[in-house]
Amino acid sequence: MVILKDFKVETNPTWCPGCGHYTVLAALQRAAANLGLEPDNMVLVTGIGCSSKISQHFNSYGVHSLHGRALPVATGVKLANHDLTVVAAGGDGDGYGIGVGHFMHTLRRNIDITYIVMDNHIYGLTTGQTSPVSQKGFKSKTSPHGSAEEPLRPLQTAIINGASFVAQAFAGDINQMTRIFEEGIKHRGFSHINVFSPCVTFNKINTFEWFKEHLVNLDEKSDYDYTNKYHALEFLDRHGSIVTGILYQEDRPTYHEVMIGATKTPTSKLDLTIPKEESERLK
Ligand code: SF4
Ligand code: MG
Repeated sequence: MVILKDFKVETNPTWCPGCGHYTVLAALQRAAANLGLEPDNMVLVTGIGCSSKISQHFNSYGVHSLHGRALPVATGVKLANHDLTVVAAGGDGDGYGIGVGHFMHTLRRNIDITYIVMDNHIYGLTTGQTSPVSQKGFKSKTSPHGSAEEPLRPLQTAIINGASFVAQAFAGDINQMTRIFEEGIKHRGFSHINVFSPCVTFNKINTFEWFKEHLVNLDEKSDYDYTNKYHALEFLDRHGSIVTGILYQEDRPTYHEVMIGATKTPTSKLDLTIPKEESERLK
């Protein structure tokens, strides 16, 4: 039987004391153990940045890939072997900056992988520059007078462009984050999970305390309908996207299921319906 220890390694991360990424690593290890996954049947693919070092500290197969390229590498792994559990991870600079083109195209394919973005609203590894999701007015070495740009809205982007599971977690709430990781990994299709994971060294604005003060927890909203994407978009807009929980979930065939059906014979057509046994399982 698999236990939590099976997903741990002997080396310690080099993250700054108090960095949010420690809790993200612990939550992912807990989720994998709770789901009974096997380390040798799992691949964790990361990009470049402080958060991308997570693949060095999680015991499974891992690929520490190139800056912004975790998603195409993870896609290749999943398409080569559909039986693997594939998780991609990285930071907001990695995924929403240099990697944003890959993000957009992965969203619309519904590849059966989970993508965890450790979002600290800053570039941490390079000692503190404004990132694509830094708030307007945010001051850093690259925007000394305050950022004049609107922040990218990754959750809304994911919902509009075809992600079938969209959620947000907070490194200050490991229990909720673990549950969200479990649901995201179990979900059949592309799961996008943005995690507020504060950089305690370079971002002195969006701290653990700041998030605790501003976050709205969807688990406390009994009337929230996570199957309604318009509801999700309106809720995010109303709360400035500072929410945690599962925002949207939809059941539809994955990329490899569609493509396997389409390539059975030269005259096969795309089958966009959900396999019968899968519909039964989800009832
Ligand atoms: Fe974490 Fe920031 Fe330190 Fe990087 S620089 S390890 S993101 S606290
Ligand atoms: Mg970052």
